Amino acid sequence: RQAAKQQQDSLVDTMERAAQAYCEQLKSTPHAIDYLKRRGVSGAVSSRYGLGYAPAGWNYLASVFPDYTSRLLEEGGLVIHGAEDDKRYDRFRDRIMFPIRDVKGQCIGFGGRVLGDEKPKYLNSPETPLFHKGRELYGLYEARTDLREAGYALVCEGYMDVVALAQLGFPNAVATLGTACTGDHIHKLFRFTEAVVFSFDGDAAGQRAARKALEAVLPLVNDTRSVKFLFLPPEHDPDSFIRTHGADAFTRMVHAAMPFNQFLLQVASEGCDLGTAPGRARLSNQAQPLWNLLPPSTLKRLVLDELAQHIALPAQELEGIWQRTNAPAS
Ligand code: ATP
Ligand code: MN
Ligand code: MN
Ligand code: MN
Repeated sequence: RQAAKQQQDSLVDTMERAAQAYCEQLKSTPHAIDYLKRRGVSGAVSSRYGLGYAPAGWNYLASVFPDYTSRLLEEGGLVIHGAEDDKRYDRFRDRIMFPIRDVKGQCIGFGGRVLGDEKPKYLNSPETPLFHKGRELYGLYEARTDLREAGYALVCEGYMDVVALAQLGFPNAVATLGTACTGDHIHKLFRFTEAVVFSFDGDAAGQRAARKALEAVLPLVNDTRSVKFLFLPPEHDPDSFIRTHGADAFTRMVHAAMPFNQFLLQVASEGCDLGTAPGRARLSNQAQPLWNLLPPSTLKRLVLDELAQHIALPAQELEGIWQRTNAPAS
């Protein structure tokens, strides 16, 4: 037990040392600074998030860690060790580095972005003893006090969305790490705030992300929490939107965000012609598995009333039908 704890501590130290080294590299790498400047990132927000730069060489970290063959570098996902040829090389090369912190502020992983159009655009740390993508939210540590102040959290997709939002007046933003938003993510977030506004990209991927988030958040909805969805124009993500249209326009989007029950109705109504009985029956079938995800609450009852109105059945009758038919979970 003690040994495992010590192992974890030294893994954190390793990640922290790498973060610091990447940070220093950024200061002495004009083309990396230029990239951030081109994207409008200020020095202040860059230091708030501890942005860095991983140099282009294959073994830059050997100059930071005298023991480049240390198991810790591999375990932390910083160094890749070829099993066949026994060669070691840095995972992150020639990338802008985003340190990912846990709620205690310890660096547990990284996201790295290429400076051009190469693929993959982003590279994340692999799953390690410290880092679990499906549980961590980028920017949560940095936003922890701002969440309380703002009274709500913005949940977006990308590192640059969080950085741009923070710079332009929304320091209460966090991001999922290129994965679908999970119940674990949202559960963690509700430790800091009672209100969440999902703000994904306006493109098709962002719309899919919003549906996934709806399914993940429904089991956590209760009478004291507020859950909304902000939909951007298809050509924008939060970063591009706020830089193009400004903070006031984004504030208006936040105010106009759709309450979760309205989004639930929209998702459930897809492909349903509510002017016809078959269309309303289809809505009933599509709404049932989503509504079932809600834990018992007054709000759950009110959402049923609302759905029943659109289906044009008394709520009690609808509930009775739903209890008799065990629709497969979608
Ligand atoms: P940028 O504005 O820097 O071009 P973005 O954040 O808008 O990037 P998206 O393509 O919208 O990029 O992706 C959203 C998020 O998904 C990224 O910030 C990143 O966390 C994750 N992501 C994107 N592409 C990849 C990839 N190839 N591998 C892993 N994660 C990725
Ligand atoms: Mn996208
Ligand atoms: Mn973007
Ligand atoms: Mn994006």
